[in-house]
Amino acid sequence: MNKDIILQTRGLTKEFLGFKAVSDVNLEVERGSIHALIGPNGAGKTTVFNLLTKVHAASSGQIQFKGQDITRESQVQVARRGMIRSFQISATFAHLTALENVRVGLQRKRTDSFNFWSSQKRLDALNGRAMELLEAVDLAQFADIVTVEMPYGRKRALEIATTLALDPELMLLDEPTQGMGHEDVGRVVELIQKISANRTILMVEHNLSVVETLCDRITVLQRGAVLAEGDYATVSNDPRVLEAYVGV
Ligand code: ADP
Repeated sequence: MNKDIILQTRGLTKEFLGFKAVSDVNLEVERGSIHALIGPNGAGKTTVFNLLTKVHAASSGQIQFKGQDITRESQVQVARRGMIRSFQISATFAHLTALENVRVGLQRKRTDSFNFWSSQKRLDALNGRAMELLEAVDLAQFADIVTVEMPYGRKRALEIATTLALDPELMLLDEPTQGMGHEDVGRVVELIQKISANRTILMVEHNLSVVETLCDRITVLQRGAVLAEGDYATVSNDPRVLEAYVGV
């Protein structure tokens, strides 16, 4: 059976002043999967995300999303197609409440601009939808709390809620459990499982037990190139991965 590939790169390469941060990467992300990008520091994971979301232009190679060549498209065009990176939206507004932050995400989806001065009826509808999204990520009790006062782990969940407001087909998560304690990690893992039910997720993640729990497929990068690929059992038993990634 043919795989349904939502995102594909071919020969993706990025040079910075002659240094190949990403080198000839062929990545295939299957629709509906949770796919991890792992590798030691400096392996090129962030640069791959930056290429996919058009923070950087590729030096060479192609990117296809839903069968369309998006290599030369802008950040906005790619986001409109449904590929959204969580922190792009969620550099959350520190002095807005959790509810308002999600509402801004919803308003962005409709208008691409921040329009706070909507009619009361429309605001009520937006607030209702924002509350549903907060409930979905277990943050209802933070609705009226300004973001700056929320605990770190909850702020990261809010980033995910604001991204969900844009209803991404492919969600890129940048180290979603970074810097979290055990309890918050557990919560984020559950949240990712839940939101993956009707979308594809590509994530950079350092915590290998999170990767093992969540991910269907893993791409291991080393020095900008793909070192190994497969499910967790396959890559974690690959001696090259052990050497490169775990350093044993
Ligand atoms: P990772 O996310 O896997 O830690 P990065 O993608 O951040 O790796 O970096 C890969 C390599 O590219 C590193 O050697 C880094 O120093 C280099 N690099 C990343 N961004 C830039 C940049 N804007 N200019 C020059 N070198 C960069």
